[in-house]
Amino acid sequence: MANAGPHPEKSFRALQGLAIGLSAFWAVLATAHVCPLRAQDWTARRQEMVAAIRADVIATRNYIGKGLLRPDVLAVLEQIPRHAFVPEDVRPAAYENRPLPIGFGQTISQPYIVALMTDLLEPAATDRVLEVGTGSGYQAAVLAELVARVYSIEIIPELARRAKERFGRLGYTKIETREGDGYFGWYDAAPFDGIVVTAAADHVPPPLVRQLKAGGRMVIPVGQRFSVQQLLLITKAQNGDLKTRQILPVRFVPLTGVH
Ligand code: SAM
Repeated sequence: MANAGPHPEKSFRALQGLAIGLSAFWAVLATAHVCPLRAQDWTARRQEMVAAIRADVIATRNYIGKGLLRPDVLAVLEQIPRHAFVPEDVRPAAYENRPLPIGFGQTISQPYIVALMTDLLEPAATDRVLEVGTGSGYQAAVLAELVARVYSIEIIPELARRAKERFGRLGYTKIETREGDGYFGWYDAAPFDGIVVTAAADHVPPPLVRQLKAGGRMVIPVGQRFSVQQLLLITKAQNGDLKTRQILPVRFVPLTGVH
């Protein structure tokens, strides 16, 4: 599973629903040809996806402290072709508001979570942002529309290679990629205005804290592997003091690597 359940009970019910939904989905895929959709159909599906994100934001407003995300973040999600970031066999589900498999036991995150994490970073046009966990490249692509430069690290070589190739093909020139263990950050490019970690760690990696600028923001899921974690927003004051706010319970794949 990739992520987000706003509430453990809700997550459990959602998982039950997901299991039923997925079996129906795979049954349909097994019997039907996957027809390429027309551009206007993808546009309509993206609009539906953003409507579902808005509904999730309202449903979780007591956790996240607001009932609306930044319009520029939602506008970007309404534009980016998520279907170009997922494997062909799950493409018909590309705009459903849920995580999807991308191979190697990994997932592209739920659109609501991508929108929320992006919003929490408060991206500005001059920012340089580090992402740990490139995966499909979708979160990096969303950030690239809002900031000056994105640095993204992926630990699984084949995913790193595919994302790099995808960024080149789709024209994302503001994204730099690297294969490696993102626990250690990207020393040469630091410090960063924002850091987003899209895999769950059991603690906040100290190298990432050091590589966050004064005044910067880090969004990271922290907790036990394959369990419910807490999405944290960590802000670094000008004097280096850290403030941590718990945002909501989530479920991410683990941050792996030897560290
Ligand atoms: N951001 C991704 C996207 O938009 O598709 C989704 C990320 S997926 C939920 C988590 C990713 O983190 C996986 O691709 C996984 O291989 C990667 N990962 C796990 N541990 C890592 C580490 N130590 N360093 C870098 N990447 C890591």
